This record gives sequence, C-alpha cells and structure tokens, in this order.
Amino acid sequence: MKLSRRIKQLTRGDGDGWDVFYRARRMITEGLAVTELTIGEHDIRTDPSILRAMNQSARQGHTGYALVPGTDLLRDTVAARVQTRTGVPTTRNNVLITPGGQSALFAAHMAVCDPGDVGLYLDPYYATYPGTIRGAGAIDRTVQTTAKAAFQPDPQQIEAASDGAVSLLINTPNNPTGVVYSRQTLEGLADVCRKRDLWLISDEVYDTQVWDGAHISPRSLPDMADRTLVVGSMSKSHAMTGSRCGWVVGPEKVISYLITLATHTTYGVPGFVQDAAHFALTAGDELENSIASPFRRRRTLAVEILSAQTTVGLVPAQGAMYLMLDVRATGLSGLEFANALLDKRRIAVMPGESFGTAAKGHIRVAMTIEDVRFASALKTICDFAKELADQNAAE
Ligand code: PMP
Repeated sequence: MKLSRRIKQLTRGDGDGWDVFYRARRMITEGLAVTELTIGEHDIRTDPSILRAMNQSARQGHTGYALVPGTDLLRDTVAARVQTRTGVPTTRNNVLITPGGQSALFAAHMAVCDPGDVGLYLDPYYATYPGTIRGAGAIDRTVQTTAKAAFQPDPQQIEAASDGAVSLLINTPNNPTGVVYSRQTLEGLADVCRKRDLWLISDEVYDTQVWDGAHISPRSLPDMADRTLVVGSMSKSHAMTGSRCGWVVGPEKVISYLITLATHTTYGVPGFVQDAAHFALTAGDELENSIASPFRRRRTLAVEILSAQTTVGLVPAQGAMYLMLDVRATGLSGLEFANALLDKRRIAVMPGESFGTAAKGHIRVAMTIEDVRFASALKTICDFAKELADQNAAE
C-alpha cells in the first residue's frame, strides 16, 4: 500500500544522529556502567507540590475533555507571564495551550507555511526541527551559524537565504549550543523578518535557564508581536517533560486558526495537567529557581574545569542545560570523539554532528547528572581529549 510522501520524508533516513545514545543505552542494558550526558532531561522529577495539585484536580473531576484552547485559568496565567516579560499586552486570546512545546512548534509551522514554502531554521538545531517543518508541508532550509561567531546567527546570511521563505525558526537560550542570543542579534533578525515579511517562530522553552546575560523575547521588539509566534513549555522550566504541556503565543487571528487545528488533531491537553501547570506557574520564583539552580551550579563548575586546561574549548555557556565543547584539537570529528569516549571512558555525549553540520568537531554535554559525578566526568573528558590531542600532534 502506498504511504504518503509527507510521512515517509519526515526524517531524511540518514540516521537521526542518536547512534551514540542508542549504543550507550545498549551497553547499560548489558550491565556496563556508562555515565550518560546525552538527553535534555532533569535528574530530578516533577516537584511533589505540582503532583499534589495534579492529583487534587483529577480527584475533583477534571478528567473529562478540557476546553480545546486550554483552560481559561492557564491561558490567563500564561498571558500574564508573557505580558510581564515582554511588556506587550497579552490576553488569553493570544494563547493556545498545547501538548508540549513540540506540538506547539508543529502547530506554528502549520499556521504559516503552505506546501512548497520555505521554513528557515539555524544550524546547529534541535533534532526535531527539520521534520517539524517538513511535516507541515514546507521545505526546510538551514542557515549556518559558526563556532567563530559563538553560534550567534548572522542576519545578513539569513536574508541572503530567504528567497521563497515564509518563516524563520529560532531558539534562544539555544539547544544544542547553550548560547543566548544578544539584543543586537535579535534586533538584526527582527529587521530581516520585517524586510522579508517572515514570520518569526521563537522557541523559548529554555527561557528560565539563563546563566549569563538576559533572555529577550522577540515578541517585545518593535512591530514584532504581530509577526512572532512564541513557543513555550512547562517541560524545562518545571521539570514536567512527561506531562506534555506547552503553548503558542501569537496574534489573536493565528490563535483562532490554531484552535481549529487543535480541534482536529490533539483535542486539547488534560485538564488536571493544566491545573498542575497553573499551580506551578503561580507557585513563585523559588520553585522555578530550584529547578534551574542545579544547571546553574554545574555550569559554574564546568567553566572552572574548562578554564584550567587548553585542549577543549567551551562555547559561551550562557543558558539551557547543555555545554557545547570544541574538541577539534584532537583531530577527530565530534562523532569519532563521542564514539571513542564511550568505548574508552564509558561516557556518553552527543556528537555535534547530530545537530546539523555547523557544530562538527564539537560535542554536546547535558548537565544532567549530580554535581560531583558531573565534574568528574568533565575532567575525564578533558584528560581524554588531551591524550588524543598529544597523539595527534605527535603523528
Ligand atoms: N524545543 C527545544 C529546543 C527542545 O530542546 C525541546 C525538548 N528537548 C523542545 C522544544 C520540546 O519540548 P517539549 O515538547 O517537551 O515541551
């Protein structure tokens, strides 16, 4: 039987960049002790206070169909949060609650891309981006960022690549690089969007994880609220990855179409999950900070460890739960280095090549294990890189 091109071409079939991860998982199943610094998931679970709110809501009967756009309570809370952070008037009519940020990314592209339109995004990129754009029927086109420019995008390059494009997808704080886009970068990107009439799809799921500088939402920039779709999520800010609760914030007209899309796809998000999200978002900064603080601590440890050696380079680690390390001095690609590190030192990291081509010769390290083990693993990575670099220099 025939299958659709859309479903068959969601990924390019050239491996999904997760081979090292799967190999590490197999080794663990076989009983080997492997330190995993691969996926972006907290080492803590959802806070018991959030689970209590979820349980209470479910027991009180919020287990039927919830309103498709989201509960009034959660939409109002998200709107108020976005308004406080951007200064842009925002109401529940600007908010659609979605089953996680991933679903929001897909919905945003469905709203603005016709089949054959180009959706731009930046390399290195979060693994699902190309498939999300293609899934919405559009042609995915990358624009490279460079290690030399600390992976800050270059607006001129984006403009040069914008023929046929209708949207630009950005992510700050960034996965996989850990870079936070500067005001200058964002203003440059906003200029290109206005000039080339592009929608800006702004993935801000790491907005509570900023270690250096400040997160700026492009929704706050002049004349951008009408052409920006902000993607947010409870996953990273509140360690609620499994609860699947996120949102799109954008112009009312777009949100009303997205509500129709949700009616025909997800049919909303469980009410008890939304009530838990509402509780979490209104529980105050302390809860939010307690979830971000382990990464903040480990990032400080990492800067210390990395600055005591010269083999491995650290891309400015300004935000998110990852470090992007430059291992080019070893003479190996990121993939070769990651495979060797797994075989020889039993540490699993993601090769930079898993995220496109711009981060080749790099590895991404997730700061998702307890501090002492994390620091020790980082030292091992640096020592291993030094051994390889010395060998490389001697050859
Ligand atoms: N965007 C980025 C950059 C991510 O790293 C992730 C998850 N790893 C998501 C979106 C999706 O997150 P979720 O669907 O859990 O909200």
